[in-house]
Amino acid sequence: SAQKETLGFQTEVKQLLHLMIHSLYSNKEIFLRELVSNASDAADKLRFEAIAHPALLENDPELTIRVEFDKEARTLTIRDNGIGMSREEVIDHLGTIAKSGTRAFLDSLTGDDRKDANLIGQFGVGFYSAFMVADKVTVTTRRAGADTAEGVRWESSGAGDYTIENIVKPSRGTDIVLHLKDGEDEFLDGWRLRHIIRTYSDHISLPIMMRAPAKHDDDGKEIESDEMEAVNQASALWSRSKNEISDEQYREFYKHVAHDFSDPLAWSHARVEGRQEYTELLYIPSRAPFDLYERERKQGVKLYVRRVFIMEDTQKLMPQYLRFVRGVIDSNDLPLNVSREILQQSRDIDTIRAGCVKKVLSLLEDLAANDAEKYATFWDAFGQVLKEGVGEDFGNQARIAKLLRFTSTLSDGDGQTVSLADYVSRMKEGQEKIYYITAESLSAARNSPHLEVFKKKGVEVLLLTDRIDEWVTGSLNEFEGKALQSVAKGALDLGALEDESDKQAQEAAEEAARPVVERIRKALEERVRDVRATARLTDSPACLVVGEHDMSANLERLLKSVGQ
Ligand code: ADP
Ligand code: MG
Repeated sequence: SAQKETLGFQTEVKQLLHLMIHSLYSNKEIFLRELVSNASDAADKLRFEAIAHPALLENDPELTIRVEFDKEARTLTIRDNGIGMSREEVIDHLGTIAKSGTRAFLDSLTGDDRKDANLIGQFGVGFYSAFMVADKVTVTTRRAGADTAEGVRWESSGAGDYTIENIVKPSRGTDIVLHLKDGEDEFLDGWRLRHIIRTYSDHISLPIMMRAPAKHDDDGKEIESDEMEAVNQASALWSRSKNEISDEQYREFYKHVAHDFSDPLAWSHARVEGRQEYTELLYIPSRAPFDLYERERKQGVKLYVRRVFIMEDTQKLMPQYLRFVRGVIDSNDLPLNVSREILQQSRDIDTIRAGCVKKVLSLLEDLAANDAEKYATFWDAFGQVLKEGVGEDFGNQARIAKLLRFTSTLSDGDGQTVSLADYVSRMKEGQEKIYYITAESLSAARNSPHLEVFKKKGVEVLLLTDRIDEWVTGSLNEFEGKALQSVAKGALDLGALEDESDKQAQEAAEEAARPVVERIRKALEERVRDVRATARLTDSPACLVVGEHDMSANLERLLKSVGQ
C-alpha cells in the first residue's frame, strides 16, 4: 500500500541506534565510508543482475555515487543509481537486522568508543552509523526495473520508530539524506568531505562525484562551480599495477573488502597467466572474525569476472583451513553468468583455487621466515584453523606441516613457538622419531608420567593440547622422514636412544615385579588388556598406556565431551 505507516525498530536495532547516538563520539567520519560502501555494493548488485536483465540499466548505464551538501538546509546527501530497494527490502534492511551479526556486535562492545566505532563496519551495521552525525535520516529509493510510482521514502530520527511511504521516484537507486546534528558542520565542507573520501574510499571502483571546488572572482567573491568531478581514482584497485599502489591504499582496500578495522598482516597481489587468467589480491587478517567457527559465515573471498562483482564465496574459492583469507579474485575467463551451482563443479575454479592456495602458503612461509612477530600474531589468531589443513589438503601437507607451531618440553613458556623443523634440528643422537603427547591442558601434559623417561634422557616432547591436535596427529604420519610417535601409546620403542643399561634395567624391573604384576592382572582381569612392568617411570608408580592403534585417552575424552 502507498500509505504512510509508522513502524517500530526491532529491539536490537533500537539498542544499536541508542549506542550510535549516545556513546560513539570519536572517529565519526567513518559514517561516510559506510554509506559510500553501501552505494558501491548497490552498484555491484545492479551490474550483476544486469548481466541477465540488461533492461534494468534503463537509460542510465553509467553507475556513479554522488556526494552533495547544502549549507543552508544543513543536509548531506549520498546518492547512487544502483540496485535500489523495494518497500519490503527497505523494511527488512533498514528496520530489522536478521543477521546474527548484531547480537555479536552488541556483545563485543568494549565501552571504549573509539574501538566500538571501528566495529561497526565489521558487523554489517554500517547504515546505522549515519545517526552518529544526523538527527534525522531520509532515505528515498526505487528498485531498478520497478515502476517510478514504486519509490519508497523512509525517515527516522533514530528513536524507536521510522515512517515509510510510497512516492514517485523517477531516478533509479537510493538517496540518503542526512540532516546533520548541531556541531557537525565539518561535514558541510567540500574540502573536508573530499579528504574523508580520499582517505577511506579511494579504492571504490566507481566514481564518487562531487561538485568541483568554488572559484574566486577578481574581487575575491566565491563562484559556485556547476561542474561535477570524480574525487577518487575510480578504478578497481587490484587491476592497477603494483607499483602504482601504496601500502596505505592496500590497507584501506583490505578494510573495505574484509569489513575489518585492523590492518592486515600481509597480502599477495598478482596477475596470473596460463591455463586460467586471473588477478588475485589476497590478505591475511591480523585478527579472527567473530564467526570464524560458525558454519553460516557470510564473509570469504570476493569473486569478480572481468571487474564485475559476482559473489562473495565462503566455500569454493578457498579451502576451509584457509577460511580466514580475504580479498578478491578477478577472472578473465569465467563466464559472467557463473552461478553458485556452476562454481561448485567448475574445473576452472579448481585451477584458480589451487593457484591461490599456493600463493597463500608462500605468503605464510614468507612471514614465518622474515617476520617472526607477525607470524606469531598470525599463529595466535589462525593457527588452529591452519592445523585443519594437515588432514584436509594432502597435496600441500608437507608445506602446511612446516608452518605448524607447538609448545614443547623445551620451549620457553606456554606459547606455541616450536616448528617441526626446530624439533628435528634438536633431535638427540640416535633419536628416530618425533615424540608428542596429547592432553587436555598443558599442566596435564607436563605432569604426565609418560614424560619421565624423556626428561631423564633430555629428549624433547611436543605438548599438544588443542582439540584439533588429535586430528593433526591422526593425519600427519611423518615430517621429513621422521615418524610422529605418541609417548602414551603402545610398548614405547625408544630405538637407539636406549642403551644396554636401559635394557638391563627393564629386564630387572620385569623380573622383580613379576609377582606383583600377576596379582594386578588378576585383580583388573577383563578391564585391561595387559599389565607390564617398566623401567621408564622415574617418579610415578604406574601409568595407563593405550595400544599402538587404539584411540588415545585424550581423544576418548574429547569424544565423550561432545556426546559420542
Ligand atoms: P551491510 O552493508 O554490511 O549489509 P549495512 O547496515 O551497511 O550492512 O546495510 C544494510 C543493508 O541495507 C544492506 O545490506 C543493503 O541491503 C541495504 N542498503 C543499504 N544502503 C543501500 C543502498 N545505497 N542501496 C541499496 N541497498 C542498500
Ligand atoms: Mg554496509
